[in-house]
Amino acid sequence: MVELAIKSMCTGCSACCDACPQNAISMEYDEEGFLFPCINEELCCKCGLCQKTCPTLSEAFDFKAPLSIYAGWSEDKKMLKNSTSGGIFMSLCREVFSQSGIVFGAVFDDELKLSHKSAFSENEALSMQGSKYIQSNASGAYKEAKRYLDENKLVLFSGTPCQIDGLFHYLKKPYENLITCEILCHGVGSTAFFEDVISESESLNGSKAVDVKFRDKQKGWEDSQFKITFENGKTVSQFSYYSTFGYPFSLGYSNREYCSVCRYSSPQRIADITLGDYSASDKNKYSKEKRKNGISIILASTEKGKQLLESVKGLSLEEKDASLVGESNPALRKRQNDTAKRNHFFEIYKNKGYEAVKNAYATPPKQTVTRFKYRRQINFIYNLLKKLRLK
Ligand SMILES: Cc1cc2nc3c(=O)[nH]c(=O)nc-3n(C[C@H](O)[C@H](O)[C@H](O)COP(=O)(O)OP(=O)(O)OC[C@H]3O[C@@H](n4cnc5c(N)ncnc54)[C@H](O)[C@@H]3O)c2cc1C
Ligand code: SF4
Ligand code: SF4
Ligand code: SF4
Repeated sequence: MVELAIKSMCTGCSACCDACPQNAISMEYDEEGFLFPCINEELCCKCGLCQKTCPTLSEAFDFKAPLSIYAGWSEDKKMLKNSTSGGIFMSLCREVFSQSGIVFGAVFDDELKLSHKSAFSENEALSMQGSKYIQSNASGAYKEAKRYLDENKLVLFSGTPCQIDGLFHYLKKPYENLITCEILCHGVGSTAFFEDVISESESLNGSKAVDVKFRDKQKGWEDSQFKITFENGKTVSQFSYYSTFGYPFSLGYSNREYCSVCRYSSPQRIADITLGDYSASDKNKYSKEKRKNGISIILASTEKGKQLLESVKGLSLEEKDASLVGESNPALRKRQNDTAKRNHFFEIYKNKGYEAVKNAYATPPKQTVTRFKYRRQINFIYNLLKKLRLK
């Protein structure tokens, strides 16, 4: 039997699946709600191509120190509103489409199943906007991207760092006409748990969910909401941070096992461009309005990435010193999380079900909610006392 990466080391990137010449590999959800490759032994001819393609079984492609780091945002208000942070991704898309390029990104279908799709126009790419904090099934996307690359078309491929590494391992050679854009990633949450959250809400609201925004900005980027829209037009929202989905996700309890030790969590990057939430210590120097609309951290790690960023119209970019932003985002630091709580979360989920794990891990204590709601006032008083003590 052909052995792929062991479960605890598999990212679910699905590069092995696209590499198989026999179509013998499919990506299936396990009982925790994460994608893993499944080999059909009857179709497998034991060629070993899947093993040779797996990023976990070989060296990561090429980690690079960023050439430039920026804080930035799109000047297009609508684009900014529908994005998670500064709307940089859609600004890049606009430039790529102006050069007749193709973009790959994560899209929900009508049943809220997330997978990687291609887009040929800004209109088609709208559904890629916004972070979906569960794993996108990328199988098929690497194969399709290679076809366009071989036809010399410009391709912008976006995804988690493990998916970008999966693409590089699948392609096996560099392409001048490929631009990769990764998100700063602290993990993907369980799809099964997400679906339970949605089902519960559908029952409570008597209607099918048709759209989910993990970080809706109606109340502002720093107060983003987990928002569900139903077929009957009704919507429900909770602060993302302490929503039933967001709370265990942000603490890493409901995330994929490998995400706890992810090798892509590092100041060195895999993709040409990296995007995340701007969280450096000088964030508060930006106006209230800017912080309400959203600010991205952007890392350009290749000349190609830097050139694309600097050629995009309607983007505001402010170059930052690496020392300022280096420690500010956990997704830029080496990761070695304690997995005890994560494993306990799934032990309860698998043995006792959704309600039990929701009560144990997905309902934040009252003090946490109060502290989050009044965090600005608490910070203000804390800083004032600190200043007074220093005098
Ligand atoms: C799973 C996940 C974890 C993240 N963790 C962090 C973090 O720890 N720290 C941080 O600073 N930022 C994190 N981000 C990134 C952040 O939420 C924003 O997506 C990022 O700042 C880009 O914002 P934007 O406004 O430019 O574009 P947006 O329009 O918000 O970004 C959309 C882009 O994200 C891609 N995308 C969305 N969901 C997925 C998915 N599930 N899998 C692969 N690609 C996806 C889309 O294809 C598109 O390219 C995470 C995003 C995701 C999806
Ligand atoms: S060994 Fe070859 S045929 Fe078998 S699953 Fe891997 S790639 Fe497919
Ligand atoms: S290629 Fe990706 S999905 Fe396949 S075994 Fe390796 S890490 Fe897992
Ligand atoms: S944390 Fe690492 S392994 Fe997990 S989804 Fe993000 S890049 Fe992939």
